[in-house]
Amino acid sequence: MEEFVKIVKKIVEEKDLREEEVLKMIDEKQEEFEGIISKVGAAYVVAKELGVNLKEFEEDEELKIKDLTPGMSSVNIKVKVVRIFDETRFTRKDGSEGKVKNILVGDETGITRLVLWDEQIDDFDYEEGDVIEIIRAYTKETYNGNVELRLGNYGLIKKIDEKIEVKDKDGGEVVIREYLNKNIVEINKDKENISIKGYFTRLFRKEPILRFCPKCKKRIEGEKCNIHNIESEKLLILSGIIDDGTSSIIVNFFRQDAEKLAGMYEEEIEEVIKKEGKDAFYERVEQRLLKGFFKIKGTVKVNDYNNTLEVTVHNFKELKEVI
Ligand SMILES: [Zn+2]
Repeated sequence: MEEFVKIVKKIVEEKDLREEEVLKMIDEKQEEFEGIISKVGAAYVVAKELGVNLKEFEEDEELKIKDLTPGMSSVNIKVKVVRIFDETRFTRKDGSEGKVKNILVGDETGITRLVLWDEQIDDFDYEEGDVIEIIRAYTKETYNGNVELRLGNYGLIKKIDEKIEVKDKDGGEVVIREYLNKNIVEINKDKENISIKGYFTRLFRKEPILRFCPKCKKRIEGEKCNIHNIESEKLLILSGIIDDGTSSIIVNFFRQDAEKLAGMYEEEIEEVIKKEGKDAFYERVEQRLLKGFFKIKGTVKVNDYNNTLEVTVHNFKELKEVI
């Protein structure tokens, strides 16, 4: 609140007003904004409207990642999304299901982790490379002594139109995966990161959950690898064809991207297949997908088996309107 007191004092001095008058103006301003700005924020607006120069305060307003320390609250910070990780699901002590997701964000002073929980994850509709403003976050010390950002109850994230160049804390370059916008017909290079838009023309009705031996990495049919006598690991894959009018290409969705595409978690997919069969599962998914228009980001990969190019999906979303 020290900052608030300073601003009020400056307005009082420069404009020859009584303190009560200034405080009333600030209250009214906050009401006018229906509480979306803080008291300090309202004080800045009032000062600006009265023509009081607050440059000296504004300078230290912009918080950077290097300034984050454990135990801060009401943190507002502008950052670039560096890397989005898959979420982890868990069961709480009371039996309820929870999920947590890590997102690396950075600015020109370093990188930190933003941790999102439950519905916050569903609301996070941003991509790697987006510049966002995180509002009303708080900081927490991690087990290894770093600081992470978390979103408070009234916290929010919005995309902003600003440029941020991300550096690590020693000033080193941080590379953010870039995806080239392409028409499908232009896709011709292995390992290239591309962004395409199009319609699903079909889904392949393959077995969506494959089993691998974690040791020999071979595909196996049963629950266990006969050679290593260890339990197999599951891998969820959904594949289909995307068409954008210029051409079409096979797109492969793995794990959580496949779950998002299906609109079901892996356990639910297994359940549906067990009860209703594979075709029923695919019919459900097709009903959702075959009408939609999608933006897909991923890496081009040569299918060694038939030497065609396919896309391994990293990120996708259904677009509301056709662009
Ligand atoms: Zn094995």
